[in-house]
Amino acid sequence: MHNLKHSGAYSRLENGKVRRKFSKTILVAGGAGFVGTHLCKRLLDAGNKVICVDSLMTGRQSNIQPLIGEAGFSFILHDIIRPLKFSRPIDEIYNLACPASPPHYQADPVHTMQTCILGSINLLRLARKKGAKILLASTSEVYGDPKVHPQPENYWGNVNTVGPRSCYDEGKRCAETLFHDYAARDGIEVKIARIFNTYGPLMRPDDGRVVSNFICQALQGLPLTVYGEGQQTRSFCYVDDLVSGLVALMATGKEVCDPVNLGNPGEFTVMELAFLVKEMTSSKSRIEHLPLPKDDPVVRRPLISRANRLLGWQPTIPLREGLEKTIAYFAAEIFANEPIVEVAE
Ligand code: NAD
Ligand code: UDP
Repeated sequence: MHNLKHSGAYSRLENGKVRRKFSKTILVAGGAGFVGTHLCKRLLDAGNKVICVDSLMTGRQSNIQPLIGEAGFSFILHDIIRPLKFSRPIDEIYNLACPASPPHYQADPVHTMQTCILGSINLLRLARKKGAKILLASTSEVYGDPKVHPQPENYWGNVNTVGPRSCYDEGKRCAETLFHDYAARDGIEVKIARIFNTYGPLMRPDDGRVVSNFICQALQGLPLTVYGEGQQTRSFCYVDDLVSGLVALMATGKEVCDPVNLGNPGEFTVMELAFLVKEMTSSKSRIEHLPLPKDDPVVRRPLISRANRLLGWQPTIPLREGLEKTIAYFAAEIFANEPIVEVAE
């Protein structure tokens, strides 16, 4: 029995059954990952059919479990480095498939590169065949260790081609080029979102990125692992804001095909984040300094005037508010099977 909680057009058939008319059919590659699951939910709630394609490499079945059985949602286990075939029409494709956390994308760098390049080609060919719009989840990593700060879209970046981060940075740069070239050659309608550090519920506790690491460590009383002196900066965007930006970008007309930064310009050092997480979790964890990974960008902050102008978009959720929701999510994940004792202050 399907529930009727979603918007969309409903009508009663002659046989008495209720028929739901979906707005669009949308394929989300990487839809079982952290951002992908939030996006699938948002698109379903807006009355669309959603086909989630994922290899479950870093995504989780548990993320999409609540969606399985919902009207309009289907899941296909597939690695996008292999071609995709669909008999059904598809209106829009979001390419989010790619591990995004440094330890995960560095675990099999050649596969990360294949995902960015072969995966993008396979999805672009599908978009061409279906006449679908297609959006690439690109990254602020295309700016590498930036020499221009904050980063506007017309900055070409400073990227090492032969370092530990190169498979991801160069893979995404190449994916952007492929999107640009398919659009120019075949007239495909493409969108390129350059996403800056995004966090929120549904990240894996073992994701390895800074926000999930610090929160999980703080909640368990483990040392917070600050790499280097912790003076490097990042700008953290809450996932709901990012998803709004992705959907708004996809909704733009054909003339919008150049890259658009999506991120929260609030900039923090890693040390500031560590102390904020410690304070918000009332954690007694100590700070442990570990070696700074090679090629770790020193600064990062998006200029978002293009997103603001073209999409009317800007983030609305400040770091403290986003962290509150994320801490509550991780506490539930980590302590799910443990008896909780209420203690009076
Ligand atoms: P994630 O690792 O949680 O999600 C990636 C998803 O892609 C996972 O479900 C994974 O199983 C799937 N996947 C990976 N390789 C695949 C393949 N070859 N075939 C099919 N599925 C595959 O990461 P995320 O944070 O949700 O990131 C989503 C997208 O956004 C990624 O493309 C990432 O590069 C981009 N991005 C994210 C951030 C961020 O801060 N979250 C920043 C910049 C860019
Ligand atoms: N970082 C850290 N401790 C951790 C994980 C990350 O100090 O446990 C640092 C990392 O060196 C980088 C920043 O936090 O400077 C953001 O790292 P993350 O992996 O989240 O994303 P990146 O922006 O590097 O892709």
